[in-house]
Amino acid sequence: MRAAIYREFAGPILIEDLPDPEPPIDGVVIEVRASGLCRSDVHGWEGHDPDIELPMVPGHELAGVVHRVGADVRNWSVGDRVTVPFCCGRGVCEQCVSGNTQICDNYFQPGFTAWGSFAELVAIPAADLNLIGLPDRLDFPEAAILGCRFVTAYRAVVERGRLAPGEWLAVYGCGGLGLSAVMIGAAAAARVVAVDINEEALALARRLGAEASINAGSDDVSDAVRAVTGGGAHVSIDAIGNAEVALGAVLGLRKLGRHVQAGLLSEGPTPLPMDVVISRELEILGTHGMSVRSYEKVFALIEELDLARLITHRLSLDELPAALEAMRSFSGAGVSVVTEF
Ligand SMILES: [Zn+2]
Ligand SMILES: [Zn+2]
Repeated sequence: MRAAIYREFAGPILIEDLPDPEPPIDGVVIEVRASGLCRSDVHGWEGHDPDIELPMVPGHELAGVVHRVGADVRNWSVGDRVTVPFCCGRGVCEQCVSGNTQICDNYFQPGFTAWGSFAELVAIPAADLNLIGLPDRLDFPEAAILGCRFVTAYRAVVERGRLAPGEWLAVYGCGGLGLSAVMIGAAAAARVVAVDINEEALALARRLGAEASINAGSDDVSDAVRAVTGGGAHVSIDAIGNAEVALGAVLGLRKLGRHVQAGLLSEGPTPLPMDVVISRELEILGTHGMSVRSYEKVFALIEELDLARLITHRLSLDELPAALEAMRSFSGAGVSVVTEF
């Protein structure tokens, strides 16, 4: 198979011919038709993820067609159109049994714990648990970007943040995750304020439903959010993963507000104003992907939304290395997806 591979952290990403994967006995090999570029691919490549053993084929937001099936798989056949959540469960541990596959004790993450989807083929274990059949109307690129950022945003905003109609949602960082949160917040009839330092990303956020936007480069962010929202956001999401951003997001909440940390904080422990958490009775919540059980709700939601509006670049595999390199600088707006392998 053709695939992208790196052999050292932050080293060159090469497009090579590699051996085809075999299906695990309980899993499948998927022929990848679309694979989204996510900031966590950049984190992993830069060496910030302890799960990664070199060499690594990155890529974890995928959709495609079942290509080969392991002997123990009951529910899937060659030719089925499928996607998977970026964090797959094995189906055995306490978390999986309670339906929380996204925090499986022995999780499988393509592109992190095993070779991923910037490749013609990718192997996925526990297929009967993890595969999700695609509705006919959903194209592969849109299905692919559900896999990490959109479902993470859904769990953050709806399931963890419990955003209610009429409430204010403050979205910090308008990359793929943040823009997904903007769309989900607007679809939930909430009022959305988008925060970023990139005017192009803020303009896209406004087109996707943000009522207000704040340039974090020029304003004191917490004060600006509290002014725009009349006292503070009800729910905030750090969609970047930065200690200063997380702190500002917590300070920008109103009393009884909920902060959801979705962006990865790769720098280690993050100081938070616990005095403010107490005095305003705030909630600090983490989120890590989304359970496979919630996909039906997401499919129902995206009936109303045009996910293709998030996708600004469709790339070939050969264009991937330069595109990942460019993501390191946080420039541009919207989501890129590899659609040619
Ligand atoms: Zn598990
Ligand atoms: Zn991701």
